[in-house]
Amino acid sequence: MTRKRMLLLTVVFMQAFSYSFAQEFTPDVRRFIKTSAPVIALTDVKVMDGTGRPSSLHQTIVIANGRIAEMGAQERIKIPADAQVINCTGKTVIPGLVMLHEHLYYTMFLDRYFNIAEMSSTFSKLYLAAGASTIRTAGSIEPQTDLAIKRMIGEGKLLGPDMDVTAPYIERPGFDIPALNTVKDSAEAAASVVFWANKGCTSFKMYMHATTQDLQAVVREAHKRGLKVTGHLCTLTYREAAELGIDNLEHGFMASSDFDTAKKANEFDYPVAFKALQALDVNSPAMKRLIQLLVSKKVALTSTLPVFEPSTGRETILGGGEEALIPQVRETVTARWRNSQNKDSASLALFKKNMAWEKQFYEAGGLLVAGTDPTGSGRTIAGYGSRREIELLVEAGFTPLQAIKIATLNGAIYLGREQETGTVEKGKAADLVLIDGDPEADIKKIRHPAIVFKKGVGFDSQAIFESVKGKVGLN
Ligand SMILES: [Zn+2]
Repeated sequence: MTRKRMLLLTVVFMQAFSYSFAQEFTPDVRRFIKTSAPVIALTDVKVMDGTGRPSSLHQTIVIANGRIAEMGAQERIKIPADAQVINCTGKTVIPGLVMLHEHLYYTMFLDRYFNIAEMSSTFSKLYLAAGASTIRTAGSIEPQTDLAIKRMIGEGKLLGPDMDVTAPYIERPGFDIPALNTVKDSAEAAASVVFWANKGCTSFKMYMHATTQDLQAVVREAHKRGLKVTGHLCTLTYREAAELGIDNLEHGFMASSDFDTAKKANEFDYPVAFKALQALDVNSPAMKRLIQLLVSKKVALTSTLPVFEPSTGRETILGGGEEALIPQVRETVTARWRNSQNKDSASLALFKKNMAWEKQFYEAGGLLVAGTDPTGSGRTIAGYGSRREIELLVEAGFTPLQAIKIATLNGAIYLGREQETGTVEKGKAADLVLIDGDPEADIKKIRHPAIVFKKGVGFDSQAIFESVKGKVGLN
């Protein structure tokens, strides 16, 4: 091939690439886009790149066709003539968040029974507004809705992050939670994996009454398809689940029944398991052994601290989202929060221990990932609770650089997408959060995202938050 022809082919290829990038958005989505210029230069910005390495000041990031085309010290990086320049003095860039326990539903009691209802309009928007460019839903109650929302986000019809949609819970009858899916036996558990994998679900979650046989069946069918299995366990101990090949465990160590020493296989006794955790010493050698096992089996652990945050002296809605709720829901959630003031010293003690155990897991080399879990008593909601998780990681003793790594790169590694997203790095998708201020100096600055970039398209975070006010609890 002549050099001239090769050059021509390269040009044609690059044009094809840039055309394929240009995503279409409906007017309803477009009005939340702050910038979608083909070439954007962020100048004089502080970068916390998601790897945990020290931050850098006065950087330039060039975004072209949805990707990070160039980045580095501002005196070194040439700004393309056609770039839209955004001066970022006083601002910080972090990677788009990759959050792994992000339901599209919310606590909504059915009479006196705990229940959950789909927030199909508000939650995907709130995750994006808070900076999440990628989420895993970690258990669904309306999988068909979650899958449709994922598709419509991809088609530019709805606002939201990229989604790894988790199938309906794999759970045996036991709880009166009307929206919760159950299976009658392990054969049905296996069949449900096949069914939902064919529908487009890309992950699976075992719930509290699931048995050894259920997990074996689910791991077999999921791993055959290259898909992963997580669990919010109780009948199964963490040790048993790790031995059977589970990929991930939810809620730090709060769902571990490993320390109920009288527990028999496939026995469910949540109160005893919970008391055993409360009695366990923060530096327990038994916990150290469990951590070693999880690390050696490469089981990831999801931290979901907001859903366990005590009430006394802490926010009503975690991360400051009172105004997002419809008034009726805000009243009932506030009443529950008020009623538990000064009555939650036991949960505070366990909350602190779980934070310490998550840190021990991380320091032992475990893959700690972050999630929101917008459930519990209703104090945790999408987006607001997501940023609260990062603040609580810092309260747990992680540095801001580590907390951001846990909520970005670690999530991407778990999902197998770390070549594409999860760090601020040349060549990766421009999934970035531009924050007003410096979250390394004050982690609460994470509450001030200015622009959330998803594949180079910059969304107006504050406008999205504004548009959802007074709607959570409605839909
Ligand atoms: Zn959950």
